[in-house]
Parts: sequence; C-alpha cells; structure tokens
Amino acid sequence: MNNIFQWHYVKRWCFERTRDALIPKWRDGLAIRGVSETVVGVLGGGQLVGSFDDGDTVREFAKRCGVLTVEIEHVDAVTLEKLELLGVDCQPKASTIRIIQDKYLQKVHFSQHGIPLTDFMEIDNLAHVKKAGELFGYPLMIKSKRLAYDGRGNAVAHTKEELPSVCDWSTMESMVEDGDTMLCHAGKMSGHYQDIYTVKLKSSSHIVPCWAMIVVHEMYSLGGFDHGLYVERWMPFVKELAVIVARARDKSLSCFPVVETIHKDNICHIVEAPASVPDKIKRLCVDIAKKTVRLLEGAGVFAVELFLTKDGQVLLNEVAPRPHNSGHHTIESCYTSQYEQHLRAILGLPLGDPSMKIPAAIMYNILGEDEGEAGFYLAHQLIGKALNIPGASVHWYDKPEMRKLRKMGHITIVGPSKNIVNTRLDSLLERKTPGSH
Ligand code: ATP
Ligand code: MG
Ligand code: MG
Repeated sequence: MNNIFQWHYVKRWCFERTRDALIPKWRDGLAIRGVSETVVGVLGGGQLVGSFDDGDTVREFAKRCGVLTVEIEHVDAVTLEKLELLGVDCQPKASTIRIIQDKYLQKVHFSQHGIPLTDFMEIDNLAHVKKAGELFGYPLMIKSKRLAYDGRGNAVAHTKEELPSVCDWSTMESMVEDGDTMLCHAGKMSGHYQDIYTVKLKSSSHIVPCWAMIVVHEMYSLGGFDHGLYVERWMPFVKELAVIVARARDKSLSCFPVVETIHKDNICHIVEAPASVPDKIKRLCVDIAKKTVRLLEGAGVFAVELFLTKDGQVLLNEVAPRPHNSGHHTIESCYTSQYEQHLRAILGLPLGDPSMKIPAAIMYNILGEDEGEAGFYLAHQLIGKALNIPGASVHWYDKPEMRKLRKMGHITIVGPSKNIVNTRLDSLLERKTPGSH
C-alpha cells in the first residue's frame, strides 16, 4: 500500500533521534519546554491513516498540521503541492521535493544554475547508453532517476560489452514504444516501497506550531524502477565530502562542519568529522553547498554530497532535503544535532550552533552482514563491544528484519583527536591500525 497518512505514536526516526536530541536540551531550561512535552506526548498519541488521494483525509490532515516536513524525498510531490494549496505549510517546499526526488531533474536544475557537477545524459534505450559510453568513456555510471537510495538504483558498466547485462533494455524499450512508463530493472535495482506514513506531533505548547512529518515506514530492496534512467560520467574522486546546510525561514544559512563519507558498495559506511582536507577545500565545499541550497525553496536541513578530485576541484553529487546519514554524528558531536536544527528551521526558531563541541567524531553504520538471525547475532556482538569503547554511542534502529547491507543502526565514537577516534574504531572492528603489527 502506498500513499498513506498516518499519525502514529512515533516513528523511531522521531523517537530516537528527535526525542534524544530535543528533550535533554530543552529540559535543561531552554525556554521551549513545551516542545519536549510535544515529543513525549507523541508516544501515546493517536494516528490518522488515509490515502494521499482521499480529499477528506487530506483536509483533516491539513487542519491538524501546523508545519509539514519529510524525512525522505520519495514522497508524492503532487500531494505536497495540493497540501500547500490547502494552506499546509510544507518545509521544505513541495517544489524542492519535486526537484530532488528526480536525480536527473536535480542535475539539470543545478547545472543550469552553474553548480559544478559531472557530465550526465538522459537515456531511453541501449543505443542511447552506447552513445553515452562513447562520449563519457568507461566505467560508466547508470542511475535510476527516481526512488534511489543507498546505491540501490546505481549500476556500473565497466566496458561497452557489459552494457547489455546491466539493464533489462528490452523491457525498457518496449515500454517506451508502448508510450507507457518506462520500466527498467538495472543490475542492483530490485524491490519495492512499503507504506508512506505521516507522523503528526501534537503540540502542547503555545510557543511553536505543531508539526508533522511524512516518513516512509519501511523502504527496502527498492525496485521496479519505472521512471527512467540517466548516465553520469565516472568521477575518479579522491574523497567524498558532505556538508549539511540548515536554512531558516528567513533564508539565513548555517553549515555543519564538512565531513568525509566513506562508502562500501555505494552505501555510506563511515563518516569522519571533521573531514581531513585543507581549509581551502572546506571553504570551497561550504561555498558550493550554500549556492546549491539557495537554488531550492523552503526551510530545513539539506545534505549536500560532494566529490573532491585529485586537482582540488569540488563537484556536486546530489542533495538530500532532510537530515542525512552524513549528519548522524552531530547527535553526539555538535552543540546542535541535525535533527534539532531541522526542527528549529522548519518551526521558525533561531538556528542552533552547528559547531563541534568535541575535536573529532567517527560514525560507523552497522550494515547487515548476513540475513536473519545470523546477521542479528553479528550486529549484537558488535554492539556489545561498542559498549566498552570510550566515547562510543550506539543507535540501534530496531528494524524487524535483517538483510545484507541494510542499515540496522550506527555507532558514533567521539574523542579528543582524529587519531584517537580512529584507533577506537579500529579496536571496535578489530582492525589493525596502519603501521601496527
Ligand atoms: P544516497 O544513499 O546517498 O541517497 P544514492 O543511491 O542516491 O545514495 P548516489 O549518491 O548517486 O546514490 O551514489 C552512491 C555512491 O556511488 C556515491 O556516494 C559514490 O560513492 C558513487 N558514485 C555516484 N556517482 C558516481 C559517479 N558519477 N562516479 C563515480 N562514483 C559515483
Ligand atoms: Mg540519493
Ligand atoms: Mg548519495
């Protein structure tokens, strides 16, 4: 079932991340105590379930909701637009979600406004992709325009000969010929969406409006990529960097420190904060990230993923209009977490201090190593070890099903230096520190 509204007691996203981020601070005497009650109140709150297409539900939703935000960009942008027409205050704006959720449209939008990015081109059939291969060379990155996450939606052709096997071109072409939606299953693309929920937090406070969040309850093994493909020139980056930019309702911007993201099989695996790159590169990253976010509408936090090349160029990879994996470390390492910052931004509160309160942090995603019980066992072993590591905080998402490479939780280790947090992670993972025997 797709397109569901649901007010429910709380999604783990809100509970673990938002509640943890908000309550301690606001209990500690910041003037916004009502908000913590709001969040706690949600634990026992009711829920409303209905379809995006059901006018009554939408109107009911609109009545109850002060500010609407999303935790993922793969929501129905047309419905968001309708909600905006009904007077619902969507932050960021539906227009932003519409652009971001189509990675090709995103690239067109940003390139038209002078943001540096790798060459890209829309493809409809095997002949097109061969042409792209001639233009861009190999390896060639083939991406789904929509519903992509954690690298599911990307396929790499290393040679021209591999092209026929990375995508089911015949399906794609026949659908195009039929004048129907394109249907393409690229190599790794498989699976589907589950329900889309909307979380409504009832405000017991007069200070801030209540707010709601659209969340995708369970999104796994995405597939049936029926919205077309495009290709990108392969980017031989030396590092991947990311900047989380917060934009307040008055359009002022505030950036979290530049981090380095390290991927495993296209999935974010480790995040180092701050990134070990020269200040000049950090300034360039922040500059590009701010320019990028200025090209989108609405308040909230935006994660800007970047590539750093050998010759010191910084190019945009993509943007997420929401709190992001590259910002999980902020819960422990920054004065304001990305979640709190997102809420401050959408609710029209002053933005918090995004700087780090500790010299270094490293975030390690707990990715499923095996299916089912065996995978749970390995993850729990790791968590057990983490409890003995100084400065380590464990976040377990309590997802009901364990699958290989699924993000099941994360561990953030903070400490007095990059070396120390790296050594602590080495000891957690029982890795040899370079140079040791
Ligand atoms: P996310 O989970 O961040 O939303 P996604 O599924 O949207 O990921 P991308 O960010 O497009 O996927 O790509 C995932 C990873 O694949 C990147 O972080 C990078 O490591 C690699 N990658 C993406 N585009 C390219 C490219 N053009 N050349 C080389 N590597 C690339
Ligand atoms: Mg993405
Ligand atoms: Mg990405």
